[in-house]
Amino acid sequence: MIKAVLVDIEGTTSPISFVKDILFPYSRERLEKFIKENLSNPEVKRILEDIKKEVGKELSVDETIETLKRWIDEDKKITPLKELQGLIWEEGFKSGELKAPVYRDAYEKLKEWKEKGIPIYIYSSGSVKAQKLFFSHTEHRNLLYLFSGFFDTKTGNKKESKSYTKIAENIGLKPEEILFLSDNPDEIKAAAEAGLKVVRIVRKNDAEYIDDFPYKQVSSFNEINL
Ligand SMILES: [Mg+2]
Repeated sequence: MIKAVLVDIEGTTSPISFVKDILFPYSRERLEKFIKENLSNPEVKRILEDIKKEVGKELSVDETIETLKRWIDEDKKITPLKELQGLIWEEGFKSGELKAPVYRDAYEKLKEWKEKGIPIYIYSSGSVKAQKLFFSHTEHRNLLYLFSGFFDTKTGNKKESKSYTKIAENIGLKPEEILFLSDNPDEIKAAAEAGLKVVRIVRKNDAEYIDDFPYKQVSSFNEINL
């Protein structure tokens, strides 16, 4: 019997394109204005210092902005850049300019399970802080109440089965009492190896059905019955 559900975000509850097509261009466009308006903010000051250290030389504000834009274009995963983008997105979500997309079928099913008393947990490679920001500003308003807990890569790599063992221990259930939903076949395999029940979500535009995949695949949460 399923006693809890563990869900991935990108490609599962929400389209993958949101990060690439909305969030990244949003931070790139607002970078200059955000930095110039927040030069005296201690957190921003510290981030700008870290950027200089990363580059290894003094940079003017304009040079810093150019460097950051180049890093975004090159999809560099540099900590001070990620921190700054996080601050820009936070401002965007809080002002209502950014709204996180959550597929209607996912929203409705999660709500139904929650109402039935089945706790729902998130496991995403985005930080717990980013996950909470995302679900508190969705197209369906604040959905934080749906979730009993959040896990990110601090718990471990999503493609390693021991991460799922750890999550089950943390939730306090047997692995086979937890259903894991994700679009990523490697994550599905890792969770199944740890003993969790699994269903792969195949969203149109984001993924394709895999022939002979050993686990159930569905295109919508509506096809999942606990
Ligand atoms: Mg995913």
